[in-house]
Amino acid sequence: MKVKENFNLKKHNTLALDCFCDQFILVENLHDVEQIVPFVGKQGIFVLGSGSNIVLTKNIEKPVVHLTSRFHARVADGITVAWAGSKWNDLVMWAAKKGLGGIENLAAIPGTVGGAPEQNIGAYGVEVKDTIVWVEVFNYRTNVFQRLSNAECRFMYRSSIFRETENPWIITRVAFELRPNSEKNLSYDGIKAELKSKDILDPSYLDIANAVSAIRQRKLPDYTELPNVGSFYKNPIIDEKQYKKLSRKYDDIVAYPLENNHFRLSAAWLLEKCGFKGHRMHECGFSDKHALVLVNYGNATGREIISLSKEAIRSVNQKFKIKLKVEPQVL
Ligand SMILES: Cc1cc2nc3c(=O)[nH]c(=O)nc-3n(C[C@H](O)[C@H](O)[C@H](O)COP(=O)(O)OP(=O)(O)OC[C@H]3O[C@@H](n4cnc5c(N)ncnc54)[C@H](O)[C@@H]3O)c2cc1C
Repeated sequence: MKVKENFNLKKHNTLALDCFCDQFILVENLHDVEQIVPFVGKQGIFVLGSGSNIVLTKNIEKPVVHLTSRFHARVADGITVAWAGSKWNDLVMWAAKKGLGGIENLAAIPGTVGGAPEQNIGAYGVEVKDTIVWVEVFNYRTNVFQRLSNAECRFMYRSSIFRETENPWIITRVAFELRPNSEKNLSYDGIKAELKSKDILDPSYLDIANAVSAIRQRKLPDYTELPNVGSFYKNPIIDEKQYKKLSRKYDDIVAYPLENNHFRLSAAWLLEKCGFKGHRMHECGFSDKHALVLVNYGNATGREIISLSKEAIRSVNQKFKIKLKVEPQVL
């Protein structure tokens, strides 16, 4: 375990925001995890993964715990158990190369294995909840390790018990059911087209992961060049009546049918309709590649980013009577 005082988090959040924490505690293994208890004050701690789903608006005045990104995963009895600090994409590619399926559509999502259950990451028709068997947490108040079953994690669209409750947990390991005969999800036209362009008719899990990575590289701004946190808003859910009303007015509406006569509406489409694609305010703005991505052009602060994001929420609400919800955690 290593402890650094007065530590700048700029390189530890993908929006590259310049904020500090009093103590940065680097944890290397399960033994280290137990050693953090004496550092925990009244306010608890903040667990930081890759910082790809947070917006820092101020310094963090409690210890920040970060699990090292050393990759560690093993398979036993058909269950893959991975160290929470491991990079998510390292796990995806490792599994795909081993011929284990289930998470290949989630390739190239930044972040850690521990960050994935927190908002139940999803992309290209797949959510991580569908493969998670259990999540191991360390309770830094009681000093006890505990396993939460899939049901106990209360996964929902971009949400889970980890996000919705105040809790004293550090996610330490996650167990997945990744199978050699897992069904492949090619429901997104983009994936089919990408595979076709490579003359791949019977894709392996690795082919799908590579196709998804290539599409994402083209579609999304690279956060190492143009800092961002991916989608800034959740896609709102509307009922059939509202959907019909909107589709009568806009024949280019982008929405996906859900159960119970509801639709998931594309937040990117709403933002484009309100003129936010490529809209810039000083040091931050909405990407001209993808309207859902708010980028830091250099020296933006978290507060400026939040201020611009609120302007877009107001504008979408005024035009469509739909209130967008911010996806990353604002600190
Ligand atoms: C370019 C880009 C594209 C993206 N695309 C997608 C996408 O397609 N789909 C999607 O769902 N998301 C996407 N994201 C968002 C993000 O990558 C994911 O939410 C990711 O899982 C966050 O992981 P992290 O380790 O960076 O978490 P952080 O941002 O570090 O933390 C997020 C939250 O998780 C908590 N947390 C993290 N690790 C732990 C742990 N070990 N124990 C307890 N709590 C923990 C933190 O306390 C915080 O509350 C994208 C982000 C970027 C930058």
